[in-house]
Amino acid sequence: MITKDELAANLSAVEARIAAACAKAGRPRASVTLVAVSKKHPPELIRLAWELGHLDFGENYAQELRDKAQALSDCAGLRWHAIGPVQPKNAKYLAKAAHVFHALERLEVAQELSRRRTGGALPCLLEVNVAGEATKAGLAPAEVEGFLAQVRGLPNLEAVGLTAMPPFVDDPQTNRPHFEATARLATSLGLSQLSMGTTSDFEAAVACGATLIRVGTAIFGERPAAP
Ligand SMILES: *Cc1c(COP(=O)(O)O)cnc(C)c1O
Repeated sequence: MITKDELAANLSAVEARIAAACAKAGRPRASVTLVAVSKKHPPELIRLAWELGHLDFGENYAQELRDKAQALSDCAGLRWHAIGPVQPKNAKYLAKAAHVFHALERLEVAQELSRRRTGGALPCLLEVNVAGEATKAGLAPAEVEGFLAQVRGLPNLEAVGLTAMPPFVDDPQTNRPHFEATARLATSLGLSQLSMGTTSDFEAAVACGATLIRVGTAIFGERPAAP
């Protein structure tokens, strides 16, 4: 686990890069939320980031999110972003603990979240398999409109945007067409939030309109093999 000083340095380096990307795109810095992806890192490291003033954290796995939310329940203002697809049977772990769900892609999950959510609608982003990768979760672009209509019919959920999880690439510009396509689709559907961009390509995502970027490695360092 990295030290608090290293974490502070990483956070300010990422912050400077976001500010530069926003300036270049002519966007206000406040239009982009940095979600610090903490999956597989221990709760103590998340607590250090919270002590440094960071509030938005992303987790992929439902049980891990539930456990960390419990361990860090005293951290005022901390917001959990569930960023990975979930099985219907595990949706209950997110229904209460998540502030935003970035990976909605199955009706069974939407129904389960809708049934179990209390205390305000859960903002959801629909995950789009924008590059059509066989190994990846997400809706085909052509399926999004129909699925959105189904989600909009459910209580306790609010569809707010789209999430793109394009391929991992060395050259961040490679994913621009995917980010642009996702942004166009969101606009055409009246959705304002766009979750896209990771350590390897978040500047390109900001240039294409990302409102939520999901950055892990650049903040917390390499992920340990086990949680
Ligand atoms: C792990 C993960 C990230 C963060 O990736 P980094 O390359 O560490 O920034 C972002 N989004 C999702 C969905 C992830 O699973």
